[in-house]
Amino acid sequence: MKKILLITTGGTIAMQVDKKRGGAVPSLQADDFVRYLPPVKNLADVDIHMFSNIPSPYMNVPLWCQLTDFIDEKLSDGYDGVVVTHGTDTLEETAFFVELTVKSEKPIVFTAAMRNLDELSGDGPRNIWGALKTVVSKNYSSDIGVTLVLNDEIHAVRDVTKTYTSNVATFRSPLFGPLGLVDNDQVTFYYKPYKRIKIRSPKVEEKVALIKAYAGMSSDLIDAAVTMGYKGLVIEAFGRGNLPDWIVPSLERAIQSGVTVVISSRCYMGRVFGDYAYDGGGRHLGEIGSVFAYDLRGIKARILLMLALGKYGEDREAVRRLFDSL
Ligand code: ASP
Repeated sequence: MKKILLITTGGTIAMQVDKKRGGAVPSLQADDFVRYLPPVKNLADVDIHMFSNIPSPYMNVPLWCQLTDFIDEKLSDGYDGVVVTHGTDTLEETAFFVELTVKSEKPIVFTAAMRNLDELSGDGPRNIWGALKTVVSKNYSSDIGVTLVLNDEIHAVRDVTKTYTSNVATFRSPLFGPLGLVDNDQVTFYYKPYKRIKIRSPKVEEKVALIKAYAGMSSDLIDAAVTMGYKGLVIEAFGRGNLPDWIVPSLERAIQSGVTVVISSRCYMGRVFGDYAYDGGGRHLGEIGSVFAYDLRGIKARILLMLALGKYGEDREAVRRLFDSL
C-alpha cells in the first residue's frame, strides 16, 4: 500500500461559517479532512500534516519556499506521493511555483474546494478523494509533474486557471485541456505535458511587479515601479503582446536601467509573439529588449521571472533563453 502525506494549507476546503463574523473562516483541524471520506485505509496509508491554515490570498513567496522544501523532504523520506489542499484563489500560483522548483519527481497533487463544509453539496471531501485516488494511481508516471485535481478533472499546473468566482467547475486549462479524468475508481490520463520547465534558484527576487494593460493606460505605474527599485516588470499587454506607443519611452528607460520587462497577454488564451511592428507592437517591444512570456499568463510569468532574476540577476540574455524555452 502506498504511503501518502496529505498536507493542508488552508482555503475554503478548511473553512466553516463563523456565525458572528457572518462568513467562512479557517476552522478545520487535520483529522477533519478525512472524516467525510470513504475509509481512506482501503486506498492508501495516509498521514496528515497541517502546514498552515490560511486563506490562500495570504500565500507568499516564503511560504512557497517552505512548502516546496517540506514536500521534497517528505518525498525523499519514504512517502510515495503528496496531496496538498489549498485555497482556490492562489492555488495555480503555489502549484506552479512547486512545479518549477521541486526536486522530486514523485506524484504531487493539489486540490481545493469552492464550497465549505457548511454549504449544501460541499465539494471538499470529493475533491480530496479524487486527489488521493490520483496520487496513488499506477498511471501517474514521473514525467507528468505537479497536477491539480478538482471536480473529477486532472490538470497540468502550467495552463490551469481559476475561471469562475463561485462555481465548482472553476478550474480550466483553456489552451490545452485537462490531462485526465477521475471517474469513480478509474483514474485515466489522456495526455502528458510535453513542455515542462524546472529552475533551481538560490534566491527568489520578489521585486517583480505585474501591470495589466488597459485602453488609455498611462506609463505612471511603470515609472513608479522603476523608481521603487523593482527589478522585473511583467506587463499583461493587449492581444498578441501589444502596448500603446506612448508607453515605449518608459519601457526603454526601465530596460536601460537594468529592469527586465516581460510581456504576457491579458487574453485568456494563446501566445504573445512579435507579429505587430508598429511602435508599441509586440515586434517593436521585442526589439527594444523585452522578453516574451509566450503562453504563460501574467501571474505565472511573474513567478518564473522572480526565479529567473534570483538565479541570473541582470544577465538578461540568460533570462531570455529561459523564457524562449517555454
Ligand atoms: N478565498 C478562498 C481561498 O482561496 C477561496 C477558496 O478556497 O476557494 O482561500
